[in-house]
Amino acid sequence: MDIHEYQAKELLATFGVAVPRGAIAYTPDQAAYCASELGGTKWVVKAQIHSGGRGKAGGIKLCGSEQDVQQAANALLGMQLVTAQTGAEGRIVHRVYIEEAKPFVRELYLSLVLDRNTQRIILMASTEGGMEIEEIAKNSPELILQESVDPAIGLRPFQARKLAFGLGLQGKQVQRAVTIILGAYRAFRDLDATMLEINPLAVTADDQLLALDAKMSFDDNAMFRQTQVNEMRDYSQEDPREAQAAEHGLNYIGLTGSIGCIINGAGLAMATMDMIKHAGEEPANFLDIGGGASPERVAAAFKLVISDASVGAVLVNIFAGINRCDWIAQGVVKAAKMLNLKVPLVVRLAGTNVEAGKKIIADSGLPIITADTLAEAAAKAVAAYRATRK
Ligand code: GDP
Ligand code: MN
Repeated sequence: MDIHEYQAKELLATFGVAVPRGAIAYTPDQAAYCASELGGTKWVVKAQIHSGGRGKAGGIKLCGSEQDVQQAANALLGMQLVTAQTGAEGRIVHRVYIEEAKPFVRELYLSLVLDRNTQRIILMASTEGGMEIEEIAKNSPELILQESVDPAIGLRPFQARKLAFGLGLQGKQVQRAVTIILGAYRAFRDLDATMLEINPLAVTADDQLLALDAKMSFDDNAMFRQTQVNEMRDYSQEDPREAQAAEHGLNYIGLTGSIGCIINGAGLAMATMDMIKHAGEEPANFLDIGGGASPERVAAAFKLVISDASVGAVLVNIFAGINRCDWIAQGVVKAAKMLNLKVPLVVRLAGTNVEAGKKIIADSGLPIITADTLAEAAAKAVAAYRATRK
């Protein structure tokens, strides 16, 4: 789960990370009011979307008057901002963050990630912060300093000092950087983050260190115990299909293929996706409807899968252990009728009450294609899809 820059800064500030003063606005008038409340003569107006690379995409505007702030907010709000990270559809800007603009002399880079290979939190830092960090990482990886955290003892202050010296910081800057690095680490650990990036970490003319930008991602599976973070969720920034799935307790991940999948069990879903590829097409989604799915839940799953315009055939593959095939069949028939399904539908049922399930499908009067095995179901779905393309 991702959150906005201003939310990450709000969280980081409670861990002692220095951030500029700022305020959030949903309208241009609010933006101008925020600027006057913050005071000063220069502000940055920053588009809040779940993506980096906003600066290069025109999502960050430096303003010299309240009128400028209002105009910048007016231009950004409602805009579909396309960055190098969003894909062609971009993300809609619903909020702008107004910050006092701090002049700085250096832009540093600091990030924490979970390294799955070593199973440790890794800190990365670089003197080359700012908007070109991806190129630096690719072309001059030696400019990225790293420290790995021993999970049994946590981040040691000497490691933070080592990074601070490595960044060429001096005098009072060193202790300020150490406070920020240790604070960022505690935020990462205590909030179940999977990624935290401060870029740029600015050094100001008067030796202050400030997080001018902040990004954080979190472990979805930990959100049950991170209510403060979970409340920051912004569904408008997420794949609408995935948001809809979450509402019905369905485990859905949107993909780019043409065969829509409705399956129970994550393992069976993975195997079915493999079989679709093996048969020559690509799955349009991963979907695990879970055990004990009611006919209503199956119908919701159907609606979700076919709401994707690239779905050219639907494959239902259920192995009913906890589930019951007759319930699934009822849900399938109900959904196919209610949604007036236009694409071919292949159903493979196995397990509890399979005969009753098959009878419901056969008696439905719908042109449902049935299969007995997984391989047969995948092959039939691909064949049916291709037949519609001819
Ligand atoms: P990103 O492009 O999505 O990573 O957005 P950033 O928040 O990092 O902004 C892009 C660039 O705008 C930064 O690298 C800075 O150079 C500049 N910038 C961001 N915030 C401020 C600020 O408060 N003051 C000034 N002067 N520049 C800023
Ligand atoms: Mn940035």
